[in-house]
Amino acid sequence: MSDCLFCKIVANKFPAEIVYETGRTLAFRDIKPQAPTHVLVIPKEHHADAAALAAADDGLADEVLKSAHEVAVIDGVSEDGYRIVFNTGPAAGQTVFHVHAHVLGGRDLTWPPG
Ligand code: 5GP
Repeated sequence: MSDCLFCKIVANKFPAEIVYETGRTLAFRDIKPQAPTHVLVIPKEHHADAAALAAADDGLADEVLKSAHEVAVIDGVSEDGYRIVFNTGPAAGQTVFHVHAHVLGGRDLTWPPG
């Protein structure tokens, strides 16, 4: 999608600090990190949100989750624990409508979230 920020990152038309990449996924650091590790994992293919990604039903959601775990390993937070969050829809705080998993770690994370 030409007007999608994350599609522009996939197309290398907008800069991002890439952490990990597979054939169908891309992981890059959040521009406004909320924890020492705050990485966004996206499918390269455009899907608006987690529901659309799940509906695609082609293994892509699995790959996003696997990439999220790989990011946690790369950043050294997988053993202490980390959080994977999909904000889905405006009431949940989703602001970029290209599905992304937030991978958060490197500090104690409180619950419930705000
Ligand atoms: P959401 O609010 O949709 O769940 O998360 C969107 C995330 O994208 C936010 O955490 C925000 O900081 C991040 N973000 C917004 N614009 C950019 C950008 O241009 N580059 C990067 N790397 N992250 C961005």
